[in-house]
Amino acid sequence: MNEDKKDIRALSLNELEAYFSSIGEKPFRAKQVYEWLWNKNAHSLSEMTSLSKSLREKLEEDFAINPSEIHIIQKSKDGTIKNAVKLYDGNVVESVMIPTSKRTTACVSSQVGCSLDCTFCATARLVRIRNLTVAEIVDQIVLMDKQSREYHQKPLSNIVFMGMGEPLLNYPAVTEAVRKITEDKGLGISPRRITVSTSGIPKMITKLADEDLRVKLALSLHSAIEEKRNLLMPFSRKFPLTEILKALQYWYSKTKSRITFEYIVWNGINDKKEDIDALVKFCKKVPSKVNLIQYNSIDKGDYLQASADIMNEYVSFLEKNGIVVKIRKSRGQDIDAACGQLANKS
Ligand code: SAH
Repeated sequence: MNEDKKDIRALSLNELEAYFSSIGEKPFRAKQVYEWLWNKNAHSLSEMTSLSKSLREKLEEDFAINPSEIHIIQKSKDGTIKNAVKLYDGNVVESVMIPTSKRTTACVSSQVGCSLDCTFCATARLVRIRNLTVAEIVDQIVLMDKQSREYHQKPLSNIVFMGMGEPLLNYPAVTEAVRKITEDKGLGISPRRITVSTSGIPKMITKLADEDLRVKLALSLHSAIEEKRNLLMPFSRKFPLTEILKALQYWYSKTKSRITFEYIVWNGINDKKEDIDALVKFCKKVPSKVNLIQYNSIDKGDYLQASADIMNEYVSFLEKNGIVVKIRKSRGQDIDAACGQLANKS
């Protein structure tokens, strides 16, 4: 770690060009360094062997690279790997690699802690300490790509921003990280295989729609009944479902990409016919599909996952109404790596 020197990865290509011209070097050097940083994921300035030794030394005088490191690895019996990733300043975030027979998905954090207050989520109990930088988001992906190659002999195929934090509250870094990892020469992951999951911030959904990033969008809905959703996710009082819906309709009009609603069904909370009816009605207002996600308990049972019968009722009503629905099985529960369980126990 080097705190007094600036991390060179905080510079844009333009800023790199300005730096090189300020030291009397040709602008193409900027491109070379940029490629080392973002396509070859160099973690030291000294490994940039296409630069002269003296230029590398000059860079080392002026800049540092502060890569994130895997601090603790936990392996689930289902193959899921939870990484506690240590950042240059000692903060830790969690990143989860989830293998299936066909693909490997990386679940990435966007913030240290979270400023939202979803009552059922472990991360919400932490305070939000800071946003991650572009480099810290990309580092998580590069680390898990290596893990996927090592353990499963294949590169990462999918990325979901469903780790710690609210990605749309770290908008500039998340969108820039997406650009970096989808660049042809970099990891080259297609944006269609990247999902940004949000708890629903209408203005930011609209902004993302205008961005032409071609990522997929998921909304953590959990209830289509306003008052109920506000109890589950108190911050959402500021963001009424009507506003969210408008933003989602705008999203679809711009991207033609269907929205995924993430939805947990709890005993005694959203397990009645009126809940299902409200969800069906909501889904009909914008092209969408539903992922019913298994609740991962985070404490001694304030919330309980609804029975299989209720889940099946949801599925059959949604399907009867022509809505695509899947029950998403939870992964990595034995190591607290599942959705909503990321809370830095390390
Ligand atoms: N802030 C973003 C991304 C992080 S949460 C968002 O809200 O979408 C990723 C997903 O995990 C969300 O759908 C969230 O609602 C869900 N989740 C949170 N706690 C959970 C829990 N205990 N069990 C199952 N899913 C949970």
